[in-house]
Amino acid sequence: MDVQFAERLQKLPPYPFTDLRRKINDAQAKGIKVINLGIGDPDFPTPDPIVQELSRAIGDPDDSDRHRYGCDIPVPEFPAAVRNFYKQRYGVVLSDDQVITTMGSKDAIVKMSMAILNPGDIGIASTPGYPTYNIGHVFASATTHYAPLLRENNFHIDLDAIPAHVKRLAKILWLNYPNNPTTATADLDFFKRVVEFGRQHNILIAHDSAYSENTYDGYKAPSILEVDGADEVAVEFFSLSKGFNMTGWRLGFVVGNVSAITALDKVKNNIDNGSLRALQFAGAKALSVVDEIIPPINAVYKRRRDMVVDGLNSNGWSLEKPKATIYIWAPVPDGYNGQSTEFATELLEKSGVVVTPGLLYGQWGEGYFRISLTYPDEVIQEAISRLAEMRL
Ligand SMILES: *Cc1c(COP(=O)(O)O)cnc(C)c1O
Repeated sequence: MDVQFAERLQKLPPYPFTDLRRKINDAQAKGIKVINLGIGDPDFPTPDPIVQELSRAIGDPDDSDRHRYGCDIPVPEFPAAVRNFYKQRYGVVLSDDQVITTMGSKDAIVKMSMAILNPGDIGIASTPGYPTYNIGHVFASATTHYAPLLRENNFHIDLDAIPAHVKRLAKILWLNYPNNPTTATADLDFFKRVVEFGRQHNILIAHDSAYSENTYDGYKAPSILEVDGADEVAVEFFSLSKGFNMTGWRLGFVVGNVSAITALDKVKNNIDNGSLRALQFAGAKALSVVDEIIPPINAVYKRRRDMVVDGLNSNGWSLEKPKATIYIWAPVPDGYNGQSTEFATELLEKSGVVVTPGLLYGQWGEGYFRISLTYPDEVIQEAISRLAEMRL
């Protein structure tokens, strides 16, 4: 029999990358050697100390619980390392009940919406942006209000532009700085205004901090919890995926507002049963050696960032070098009427280079394209020379 998909699946937007995938296959079938710069998934391995701690912990004969449910017998070293990291890095002191371990952020983002949204509620998500905020709303039978990120506002959410009825019905507002895909960063003043907005309208502020460790030129991304009283209205989603080359490991945490964390815990206890203990040990290790392992990783991205920005700038662009994230967000060149899909398709067909059209991150991403820096230097170099030959 063919099962009928639940309404929540029917309400999901079409997976935006399907069409791109097909175009890549078509190009390859025509014999074009494709270079894909589309996906943000670190290409070099997880640092050794983390891998070694995982192997130690999974085989530790003295830990007779090492195979057991990670939620029932959690590893206290992990939340302790999280609290220590927030203290050292941001000067933020967290209590025990302000930390929850997650299986990466994507999972936790959806579960948070399931924990606090009812049918008819609104969640506010920025656009262009990470699609999962909306997916969580759909799974909770809530709806999404998209707040546009505009260049003239430095890609910050314009809180004054959010309509009154949305402020009334919204229960959560998602933001993400350093931002995917725009690479924008936020300072504490902006976070202060968002926290004030949350307090005034009784909206949980959910800050997705996935790129907090991917920073360059001495820039340090702040935590929203550095704002006084932020934990009354805000939570922060931290992921080890992008900063520590650990996308496949599925490890992160959420910190901040206790009631939101309690609600998330309830969903998690009923669905996922927690993370493998060895993984929690490895995560604790990662956070405790963060100052040694992150700089060499970021040195690689910085070198690639400079290659891409310098390469584009000598071909007619005038980009600034982003201070953070593993992406370059660039305007579509003249002659394409700002049509990112048309540009990306022509680029693929003429040069074999795949970039992500901004439109795939939502309507307000139109006019831009995204390049990911998670590819080897020589691949990026080859893509840049092919781009140059196109004389855009
Ligand atoms: C990659 C990404 C995540 C997801 O990270 P995981 O922890 O691997 O699920 C979350 N938010 C943004 C903005 C991302 O780009």
